[in-house]
Amino acid sequence: MPFRDIYGHERPLGILKTVLERDRVPQALLFHGMEGIGKRTTALAFAQALNCREGGTDACGRCPSCRKIAHGTHPDVSTLTAEGQYIRIRDIRALQEQMQFKPYEGRWRVFLVQEADRMNLEAANALLKTLEEPSANHGLILLTAHPDRLPRTVLSRCQQVRFHPLPRETVQRFLVEQHALEAPPAALLASCSGGSIARALNLRQGDFLEMRRALLERMASPALREPWQRLSFLGELGQERRSLAERLAVMRSCWRDALVVRETGTADLLIHRDCEAEIRTLADRRTGEEILNNIRLIDRAIAALDQNANKQLTLEVMMFRLAL
Ligand SMILES: [Zn+2]
Repeated sequence: MPFRDIYGHERPLGILKTVLERDRVPQALLFHGMEGIGKRTTALAFAQALNCREGGTDACGRCPSCRKIAHGTHPDVSTLTAEGQYIRIRDIRALQEQMQFKPYEGRWRVFLVQEADRMNLEAANALLKTLEEPSANHGLILLTAHPDRLPRTVLSRCQQVRFHPLPRETVQRFLVEQHALEAPPAALLASCSGGSIARALNLRQGDFLEMRRALLERMASPALREPWQRLSFLGELGQERRSLAERLAVMRSCWRDALVVRETGTADLLIHRDCEAEIRTLADRRTGEEILNNIRLIDRAIAALDQNANKQLTLEVMMFRLAL
């Protein structure tokens, strides 16, 4: 996929285009940012641009080289992945061996190292050797959601490119344009995707809509004023971090909608437009200030969980402070 077809990520794409324009391709790049936001797609687009037979700062997407890279059959573009828990040292060595030869048919041989933080020390040291002895027309692109887990020595030898979560509007636009979704469900999935297109598509596959309705009905129920009911509601949110984050994002978006209804009186701008009655129940029950505070509390809980805070404690504090 050429750069021009990638949604968002203007800054990383700008950096890569500049690199191509000046013909100063670094030996090693490190793409970091949360999972599922397009690091790999961008790395492949970069590999395409490096090898495109049309030249320029973006791939044509049509020439044999571009097509092979898109189909994963180009002999000069390969991806290293973890086998089980770790990336094996022998895979790094195999990569080094290939680097001794010229690319088979492209201008550049490009290696992607997926989940680069899964290199153990031995593998990282072997890779370092590669980075210290640059070989012409070979590029390494390390991909990771956890750059802090990589040795400093590796980090310092890579040009780092940071990928941020996509804005909600960008994910929504992708779902509408590429998956023919109507605007309201696209907005709903986008707002619960955490800025990741992959996540939004995943949500679309599962029982997300039913989960969301059940959650919203529960939030709108007056029973939640009872402390013990709040505890049982907490239990219903589940234990697994990812699904917890998903449910918290839904709760946040419900309160956001309640605020919109409260302030504007109309349902036109709602994410959960199909659940207008429940949203109005939430909105009628609380002041604007209380609703804003609920949103802040949920935001804080999401951020704390993201930083591995004590899960139970974080959720209990949030739950007892929410104005329900
Ligand atoms: Zn091309």
